[in-house]
Amino acid sequence: YFDDDCPLDKKKLGLCSWMFLHTMAAYYSDTPSSQEQKDMFLFIHLFAKFYPCKECSRHFQNTLENYPPDVTSRKKLSQWLCEVHNVVNKRLKQLLFDCKVVDQRWRTGWEDGSCKK
Ligand code: FAD
Repeated sequence: YFDDDCPLDKKKLGLCSWMFLHTMAAYYSDTPSSQEQKDMFLFIHLFAKFYPCKECSRHFQNTLENYPPDVTSRKKLSQWLCEVHNVVNKRLKQLLFDCKVVDQRWRTGWEDGSCKK
């Protein structure tokens, strides 16, 4: 995927963006202040607005209207993001992700220890 220094195509941009978003959610506060909740809600909407793939931006902004971000805690945000990523996966006919293991994928590493170096 990253063996060149050329501009990103839609897939590379998508992969990098999901990596960032899921990691951000995985390290969001367990008990965010009301200001942090407002800021995260706004950030996600601005991210969608300025996402540099027009088709994706349009779809994602529509998705946010049907699935408003749950910014009340790290776990809620991680689950919400997993669900909206699955909305995109479904539209692209990609495999759906099991949201029960979202913390293992993006925060703790797999239970079998395969992420430990
Ligand atoms: P990705 O879907 O990029 O996933 C990366 C990794 O995340 C996977 O390897 C998996 O380990 C993990 N993962 C997968 N699903 C989940 C989940 N539900 N929860 C947690 N982790 C998960 N592409 C288009 O062609 N059209 C679009 O309209 C479009 N809209 C997009 C909107 C947004 C906001 C973003 C960020 C991307 C969008 N993309 C769109 C890109 C698309 O979603 C993929 O990123 C791209 O096709 C590359 O797919 P991938 O197979 O590398 O895996």
